[in-house]
Amino acid sequence: MQLSTRITGLTGGGSDGWDVFLKARAMIAKGINVTELTIGEHDIRTAAPILRDMHAAAMNGHTGYAAVPGTRALRQTVAARVQARTDVATTPDNVLITPGGQAALFAAHMAACDPGDTALYFDPYYATYPGTIRGAGAMPQVIETRALDAFQPRAAALRAHSKAARSLLINTPNNPTGVVYSDETLNAIADICREDDLWLISDEVYDTQVWEGHHLSPRALPGMAERTLVVGSMSKSHAMTGSRCGWIIGPQDAIANLITLATHTTYGVPGFIQDAAKFALDQGEAFEAEIAAPFKRRRALAKGVLARQNTVGLIPAQGAMYLMLDIRATGMSGEAFAYDLLAEHHIAVMPGESFGSSAAGHIRVAMTIEDAGFEQALQTLCAHADALSRR
Ligand code: PMP
Repeated sequence: MQLSTRITGLTGGGSDGWDVFLKARAMIAKGINVTELTIGEHDIRTAAPILRDMHAAAMNGHTGYAAVPGTRALRQTVAARVQARTDVATTPDNVLITPGGQAALFAAHMAACDPGDTALYFDPYYATYPGTIRGAGAMPQVIETRALDAFQPRAAALRAHSKAARSLLINTPNNPTGVVYSDETLNAIADICREDDLWLISDEVYDTQVWEGHHLSPRALPGMAERTLVVGSMSKSHAMTGSRCGWIIGPQDAIANLITLATHTTYGVPGFIQDAAKFALDQGEAFEAEIAAPFKRRRALAKGVLARQNTVGLIPAQGAMYLMLDIRATGMSGEAFAYDLLAEHHIAVMPGESFGSSAAGHIRVAMTIEDAGFEQALQTLCAHADALSRR
């Protein structure tokens, strides 16, 4: 039977960027010891008190259909948190709870774009972005950023596409680059969104992981609350990736329509998961800092390793759980380097090319293994790059 082009064409016909990761997983399945620095998953599991709360909620009967928009209690907690962090008035009616940030990204594009509309996003990008946009029926249009600008988007590059577009998706702190957008960048983006009447979809799932500078939510900029859909998630901030709990923050009428979409797609998020998410958010900022601390520590370790050599370049890693490394001095593509490093040293990293052409000649390293092993792997990586550069 013929499948729809919507689904068969989701990845645009090319690779979905996960080839090196899958090869590493296949090696592990064969019993080979691989150091995995690929996906954005913490090396700790969800904290026991959160799991105990989840268990109690389920045992107390919160296992039936939950309210489709999210429980009142969780929507209230998320709204209060967003208001406290951004100073923008936010009520539960501005919040839809979703099964993770990924579902929120899809729903936000469904809300912003009609079929065939152009949806913009910056390269390098989180690997699912173009497929998510295609899945929502819109046309992905990528806008390059440059290593020489430390991957901060430029207004001129955005203006070349913004007139013909319906939405712009941004992500700060950024996966894969670790870059935190400056106030200047975000103000320029907001100006263009207002001038050209774009929806801004702001992926802020790494907002608790900022090591340098500060996180500014563009929803807080003048005139932006009415045209911004913020994507949030419990995955990264609370090490709850498997719980699939996130949200969209937006104008009340957008959220009302998104609730109708949820009724016809996900039908909500399990009640016991939402109770545990509320419990987790109630632990406050100290708990979030504890979850983020290993990445901050490993970033410092990485800076030390990279300062002791000249072959591999470090893109300023201001936030999130990744490092973007420039390996162009080896003369190899990011992909060739990643395959070579996996074959020679059993270290798995993501090729920059998996995140778009702007990150060609780079690799993304997830800081997601314990400190000593992480430092050792980076030393090996740098020595390997150095040897290649001398060939
Ligand atoms: N946005 C970005 C930038 C991400 O890196 C991820 C997960 N890696 C997501 C969204 C989706 O996260 P989740 O669905 O787990 O909330």
